[in-house]
Amino acid sequence: MFKTIAIVILTLALGGAGYFGFTQKSAYGNASKEVAELAEKIKAAEQKDEAAAEELKAAEDALPPLEAKVKELDAVKGALASGAVLKDLEALYAKEKKLSTEKQLGLAGIRMLTNGGKDPSTIEAFNKALEMTDWKGQQQVVCAAQKALAASGEKVKIMSECAADAPTGKDAKDSKDAKKDDGHGAKKDAHGKDSKGGKSEEKHVAHWDYEGEMGPEHWGKEFPTCGKGKSQSPLNIKGPFEKVRFAVVPEYKLGPLKILNNGHTIQVNVTPGSKIRIDGKAFDLLQFHFHRPSEEHINGKPSAMVIHFVHKNESGELAVLGVLLQEGNENPGIKTLWSYAPPKEGPEVTPENVAFNPTNLLPREMEFFHYDGSLTTPPCTEKVKFYILKSQVNISKEQVTQFPFKMNARPIQPLNDRKILTN
Ligand SMILES: [Zn+2]
Repeated sequence: MFKTIAIVILTLALGGAGYFGFTQKSAYGNASKEVAELAEKIKAAEQKDEAAAEELKAAEDALPPLEAKVKELDAVKGALASGAVLKDLEALYAKEKKLSTEKQLGLAGIRMLTNGGKDPSTIEAFNKALEMTDWKGQQQVVCAAQKALAASGEKVKIMSECAADAPTGKDAKDSKDAKKDDGHGAKKDAHGKDSKGGKSEEKHVAHWDYEGEMGPEHWGKEFPTCGKGKSQSPLNIKGPFEKVRFAVVPEYKLGPLKILNNGHTIQVNVTPGSKIRIDGKAFDLLQFHFHRPSEEHINGKPSAMVIHFVHKNESGELAVLGVLLQEGNENPGIKTLWSYAPPKEGPEVTPENVAFNPTNLLPREMEFFHYDGSLTTPPCTEKVKFYILKSQVNISKEQVTQFPFKMNARPIQPLNDRKILTN
């Protein structure tokens, strides 16, 4: 329940602050006051263990009017859905050398309202704004937003001013943990969903699935880019191809195994240190995850499964390396992973003394097909570079059936005017 409130605060503080910061500061002021008040209630509730339940109840009672505000934001979101506003704003700001805090916050807000709160570029922009902020008067809101982010499982940087008045042990720990992270929270971005999202939170977390009413053909309602984007993934890969001359060189390292079932896939989170060089430029490996069958098709045919290795560079650009898995011999790397993969949705598990090297899952040859695409899960953010390896890796039939998701592949998307390149 605390998380539910945290998510509402988050939506308001980020969406409200961002959007109203861009348009008019007075409207923003009101939203910020309410957010700050609610944050106070939660803080008070956390301090008093015995009275906690009652205080939280009171905070919950404050939710309906706030929810109405969120809906108002949703209306704005609809108006922004085409992405035209964001494009204009980005073009306008591209000319400026350094954005003011307010502009940066506004940009984050518009990105959020266009692409959704879990979009990597939104989180990036908002983190940047938080780094820049010197609004003494808005500090309370910023702190509330940061703590709400941390409490809802998002990795955020917490300003020292906010961390200092952290009231409880739990909060202090959250702040400390969040500080250790790079603050981008991108580990879950590729799947656009809070990996800790349990049933109780789902009324506030946008929900999606691979079939039925929440299936891919309906993603666009909640996540506009999924419906309207012009360079979406996955693709059916077929010629003609254009030749490129650069190489993709993985430099993955052994690290502690951190694995989770996020309700949509099995994902392995990677500790910093593993990289890939694309045309000489380094991208950090954040996580890898699986789809069954493969999302990408080669000449109209899917493979048994695919692994997506998700990387990000210093500028926040995402690159996905795809390794297709074909039915054949047992795969020893996958054997290790499957023995620790949680069968049901839940938080990340870190089995003691188990190390894993993602290199074990790569083929020897690194020839690739390359195209510009998108995340294949909501919010379907574009400008993601895809490198699908031509060499496939074996997985046994039994290992395919042991994967806890029968089908978690988005259908093939239109190529539009994109070109597929090959090295
Ligand atoms: Zn994927």
